[in-house]
Amino acid sequence: MSIDLRIAGGTVVTPSGPVVADLLVDGGRVAGIVAADVAVESARIIDATGRLVLPGMVDVHVHTREPGYEHKDDILTTTRQAAAGGVTTIFGMPNLKPPTVDVATLTDVFDRYASSSIVDWNHNPAPTKFDQIGPMAAMGIRAFKIYMVVDTGRSYPHPAGTGIHDHGHLLQIMDEIAKTGIRFIVHPHDQALMDYIEGEVLARGDNTPQGYASAYAAREGVIWDTAIDVVLRLAEASGCPVHIAHIQTRRSIEAVRRAKERGVDVTCEVNHWAPFLSTWNDVETLGPYALSYWVPDDNRAAIWEGMRDGTIDIASSDHAPHTREEKEIGWTEMWSAHTGTPGIQYYYELMLDAVNRGELTLDRVVEMVAEVPAAKFGLAGVKGILEVGADADIVIADLDHEWTITDDDVLSKIGWTPYNGRTISTRIERTLVRGREVYADGAVVGEPGYGKLAAAPAERTAELAAKEGN
Ligand SMILES: [Zn+2]
Repeated sequence: MSIDLRIAGGTVVTPSGPVVADLLVDGGRVAGIVAADVAVESARIIDATGRLVLPGMVDVHVHTREPGYEHKDDILTTTRQAAAGGVTTIFGMPNLKPPTVDVATLTDVFDRYASSSIVDWNHNPAPTKFDQIGPMAAMGIRAFKIYMVVDTGRSYPHPAGTGIHDHGHLLQIMDEIAKTGIRFIVHPHDQALMDYIEGEVLARGDNTPQGYASAYAAREGVIWDTAIDVVLRLAEASGCPVHIAHIQTRRSIEAVRRAKERGVDVTCEVNHWAPFLSTWNDVETLGPYALSYWVPDDNRAAIWEGMRDGTIDIASSDHAPHTREEKEIGWTEMWSAHTGTPGIQYYYELMLDAVNRGELTLDRVVEMVAEVPAAKFGLAGVKGILEVGADADIVIADLDHEWTITDDDVLSKIGWTPYNGRTISTRIERTLVRGREVYADGAVVGEPGYGKLAAAPAERTAELAAKEGN
């Protein structure tokens, strides 16, 4: 037997735990996890002595900005950041121009990934055109995405066609998605409550980052909790598997925990800013550059607890880049600033740093960034796991490497990161997608168009059958 690659001497993080072993790669897949003295002819060897060998991150919540907002980022620049950050599969989001809402717009986006993406990819369209739900599901997507907002006709951040707020409409959509068996990502929001709450803040003349932060977190997060209660109840009523985006309050974590106990098929995600960038001090010092949302301390404690006990299943970036100009206005007119923060380049390293700080176990980090998103989004056994037969999507990381993140390192077009100046203790050294390096020694080496549609097991099975037939 001769194989393509041997990653030698590292600590391989397998589903049953870390083991010092050599990882064998052949034909883009994991071909074996063996002891150092097992002789196999190999075309190439990477020395991973003293390093962790981890599954690549499967990031199901990424705003690539292409098409429509390429001044912020595009698929190529987004996936360059992914490669540097150990993300081997991204799922893009539908709030583009035009928004992804039907077979035609989804086909266009697929074509763009196919020509530009460095890492593997999928895309979450909005299910707002009822007759397009089935046909889009048949194209190989693994999720739909909706914002619980009233469609205001604004172009950004929730362009027409990406919002559903009416509960009856939501249930109708969920009944239809349930037939496809794929997951429904919901951005929870109670717009009627928010109209009242932010109306009071703005009536006081408070258009600052602090005012905005306080409005979204008002009454201990009532706009999040009420929306999530509705989503969970409708998931139970419809049998539609749901995924709650950017969970951030104690009560909503408790609600998800109870729903899981009842057997509701719900997953939820924590985005980088919630554990790492959401203190009141962050709001004061970084203002519009920190927001996303403010997470008060007791809610942040609940987030860490939810990450540790598994209630929070998934870590995804919600990478949402905006230019400095789009942020600067927020110091005085926060409601006019674009909200959201870039994060795909550093999230995996920040999570591994949390392991070094004793806040999470390595097993939990790997489950949250890789195993669970792959398993819950229809890629079990293909992505997010280092076992024989899975795609060789691999990250080699040094967990004893102190360095400081700066704007100079940023691969996004926007040229800034809210983590500028932050020192962490972990560094991703190499990222491989299907056995080929896309990032190595500080440089992105992947080629645009190398990334493929992240294939579902049914497609993989057919592919394998076809191969055997030859
Ligand atoms: Zn988002």
